[in-house]
Amino acid sequence: MQDFQDLRLSPAAGVINYGQGLFEGMKARRAEDGRILLFRPELNARRAQEGCRRLGMEVVSEEMFLDAVYRAVEENKRWVPPHGRGELYIRPLIFGSGAILGVAPAPEYTFLVYTIPVGPYFKGGLKPISLKVSNEFHRAAPGGSGGVKAIGNYAPGMMPSKNAKAEGYAEIIYLDSSEHKYIEEVGAANFFCVKDGVIYTPELTGTILPGITRLSIIELARSLGYEVNETKVDIDFALNCDEAFAVGTAAMISPIGLIEHGEILATYNDGEIGEITLELYDALSGILNGSIEDSFGWNREV
Ligand code: PLP
Repeated sequence: MQDFQDLRLSPAAGVINYGQGLFEGMKARRAEDGRILLFRPELNARRAQEGCRRLGMEVVSEEMFLDAVYRAVEENKRWVPPHGRGELYIRPLIFGSGAILGVAPAPEYTFLVYTIPVGPYFKGGLKPISLKVSNEFHRAAPGGSGGVKAIGNYAPGMMPSKNAKAEGYAEIIYLDSSEHKYIEEVGAANFFCVKDGVIYTPELTGTILPGITRLSIIELARSLGYEVNETKVDIDFALNCDEAFAVGTAAMISPIGLIEHGEILATYNDGEIGEITLELYDALSGILNGSIEDSFGWNREV
């Protein structure tokens, strides 16, 4: 355990020359009764292992990953905000820290975990967001690294996202790079839509990050009796849905009020949060905050 501090790295470190690195993102929350809860951290550990394999890095064992995460939270307990006032964000990093000049796996790796307290994501309550479909950029291609949390996946999304924000949109929706027809992701979040009471989300094809919130929403919705289809979600279908929302660790669930796709402006629920979106939001946030019984056994107490 060390105080938060700068790293010393060789200028020839694999990560800064060839992007050999990945990250994870998770949160510790304070429940009403004071317990500090982590949400399914073992899934982050396993996803990181997949990423290590894809990027040719040493694999961090699930045991080592979880031990580091628990110890980092334990050490920073005093920084976990009060119940309902934010979370302690946890950032595990794995990267090639050894020096290597040729394009090849680094001879040495660093695994570290740092934490930082964050305030509530929705400061003004749960307001539906507006999104824009990118007709110019794609996030990932078949056979690439879109299915893992490679650091190199994120920089190319920054400019499109910044431009969309300058136009008043919260984020970009990326379509698939082969046919430019099917929804992949919303910036760094997974997409869901609802039509006639049935829930749809893009299937995992290797180009989409297998989000832990995505998986949990699918399991939760099915347990509430909803039919959930993991399938190809055609943008034209999504634009005609009754509700749409994005999910991820950062915002948990963001209701979508509007999507711009070229000439088309699709609105959902007159810009209000949809009924099923709200039901899923309440169910998941209740489990995450420890205010609803966690019948799935998802929470881990630190
Ligand atoms: N998609 C991308 C590209 C991401 O970086 C993330 C991470 O937050 C997600 C989706 C959502 O994944 P999770 O629910 O595990 O946070």
